[in-house]
Amino acid sequence: MDRAFGADTFNGTRHRLKSRGRCAICARRPREPMNALEESAAVSGARLSWVTCERCTAAVEMEMQRANLRTPLRTRMAVASVASERGPNDHPSVWDEAYWANLSDEQCTKLVKAWILGMFIMAPAVFLVVTVLASAQR
Ligand SMILES: [Zn+2]
Repeated sequence: MDRAFGADTFNGTRHRLKSRGRCAICARRPREPMNALEESAAVSGARLSWVTCERCTAAVEMEMQRANLRTPLRTRMAVASVASERGPNDHPSVWDEAYWANLSDEQCTKLVKAWILGMFIMAPAVFLVVTVLASAQR
């Protein structure tokens, strides 16, 4: 399904892709189909395109409506703006100190509860696996 951004001639196009892949903005691999965003034909020079997830595509469209720019480069500017907010480096991993520094008390409590529950499930599961493996060797 092709769809133009907005209603004026400065807009790019959006194609729904059947294949899945990594989002060019947030670097996630969503389960839903991806979208291909292309710049307007009015762009001088090479036209850029991006394969993005549904959430990033919606964010780009919202940014284009919010900014209301009248330039053929508005798609490129909107993608850059959204990428600065939703880029993969904006979400620290569990191994980063920033992840734990920004964790709220509620999130920390949930993690501790999940860890304790996991330990109670893990010990019997390991015992069961070892028992089954030991009995299978006899
Ligand atoms: Zn994305």
